[in-house]
Amino acid sequence: MNPILAVGSVAFDTIINPFGEANRIVGGSATYFSIAASFFTDVRLVAVVGEDFADRGDQLFGGRRVDLAGLQTVPGETFRWKGEYGFDLNNRETIYTKLNVFEQFHPAIPEAYRSSPIVFLGNIHPQLQLEVLDQVSAPRLVAADTMNLWIETTHDELREVLKRVDVLIINDSEARELSHEANLVKAARAIKAMGPKTVVIKRGEHGVLMTRADDGEFFAAPAMPLEEVFDPTGAGDTFAGGFVGSLAACSQVNDAAMARAIIYGSTLASFAVEDFGLDRLLTLTQDEIRDRFGCFKRLTHFEID
Ligand code: AMP
Repeated sequence: MNPILAVGSVAFDTIINPFGEANRIVGGSATYFSIAASFFTDVRLVAVVGEDFADRGDQLFGGRRVDLAGLQTVPGETFRWKGEYGFDLNNRETIYTKLNVFEQFHPAIPEAYRSSPIVFLGNIHPQLQLEVLDQVSAPRLVAADTMNLWIETTHDELREVLKRVDVLIINDSEARELSHEANLVKAARAIKAMGPKTVVIKRGEHGVLMTRADDGEFFAAPAMPLEEVFDPTGAGDTFAGGFVGSLAACSQVNDAAMARAIIYGSTLASFAVEDFGLDRLLTLTQDEIRDRFGCFKRLTHFEID
């Protein structure tokens, strides 16, 4: 089993949507990612929190396959983010982003983590993502996420990151912004030319589009049609956790493994949206994951006579 080194934000989030409001709940890209990936393999979490985070790390990750030796606690306040959704849950507005302890953060990768075979660079400043890559030795697979904030404000550093990652996981509007292409097929090809061997474009309730290494074609999957969708916050990071976790659990990373990983990512994300914040992921079981993976198979199966 290949452990994953995961770097990203651990946060206090405030979320407002038409179904309710959640105040100062634990979130962050690395949090969602780690919990999702820990259903498949061991995760080595590297992030920073303030003293106000208290013992929430142990409460959340205790009993899961998440090693917290790289979770630094420093004086100051934990990263905070507030987002608001309308009835179209595919679109949200960021009300504020308070970097707080992230302003002075430099990831220090513990010695024992440096040879991790799989590295996930969650959505943080690209300069910090580069600092992580400078500290690890020859990982088998590097996957990364990013967002519009970094595309708009740190374009050059982000282009350096792209040269050094195998898989970029990005959402549709960000892919368009990064590539200056309105068409997603063109956008994926343009981003691939920037460095990543594989580009995975998340399309919210419309599913996922992935470039295929073997033949230059695409693999696409729908999202699970769900009646109960409460809160898409963290769905992208949860998708990444299921996707990278599933790849880490495979002996060989080929197109078939990539396609299966897309369905595992989509499976995990379909649970994350069913309740506010992390709530649904915290009660999730392996049996539920297996059953919904089976639903995905039935959803997309058809016969050819
Ligand atoms: P997602 O819905 O998958 O895009 O992820 C939402 C999570 O990303 C929330 O829990 C936020 O705390 C976190 N987040 C939002 N903005 C940033 C940012 N600029 N840097 C790091 N994490 C962020």
